[in-house]
Amino acid sequence: MADEMLGRLARYLRFMGFDTAYAQGWTDHEVQARTQLEGRILLTRDRTLARQTSGAVGVCATDIEGQLAELRKAFPTIRWEVRPERCTLCNGTLAHWTRAPEDPWPVGVPGELVEQGLALYRCSDCRHVYWEGSHSEKVRRLIARATHPPGA
Ligand SMILES: [Zn+2]
Repeated sequence: MADEMLGRLARYLRFMGFDTAYAQGWTDHEVQARTQLEGRILLTRDRTLARQTSGAVGVCATDIEGQLAELRKAFPTIRWEVRPERCTLCNGTLAHWTRAPEDPWPVGVPGELVEQGLALYRCSDCRHVYWEGSHSEKVRRLIARATHPPGA
C-alpha cells in the first residue's frame, strides 16, 4: 500500500511485479483499514501514520532512487527485477495476450516486432497492452542502480 505521496514509487513497484495499491484521496483511517483488510504492508512518508500502523515502513527519501534503496534495505531478501506481471496504471494482473484479427491494434505497439515474435501482455482490468521493452531502458537502469548498488 503506497500512500498518496508515493505515486511514482507505486508505479515502479508495479514495474517489478509487486501487487501495489495506491492510496489516492483516502483518509488515514481508510488507508489503515484497507492495509489491514487486504493484508498489505503500508509504505508511507507520514511518520505519524507509520508509527500508528503495524508493520508499516516509513519512507524518508523524496527521490525515486533513494526510495527504492530504502525498500531494498527494508526487504533484503526480495528479488528486485522488472517483471511483466502488474499493470503500472491500475495494478491489474497482466496475462500473455495474442491479438485476434478483429481486435483493434493497440496504440504504440510495434507491429513489425510482434510479427517477429515479441510477447504482448494485457491488463485484465483496464486492457492496457504492454510488451517487452515498453518499460523504457531508462526505467530498467534506474531500478537496477537503486536495487543492486555496486558493492552491495
Ligand atoms: Zn490496468
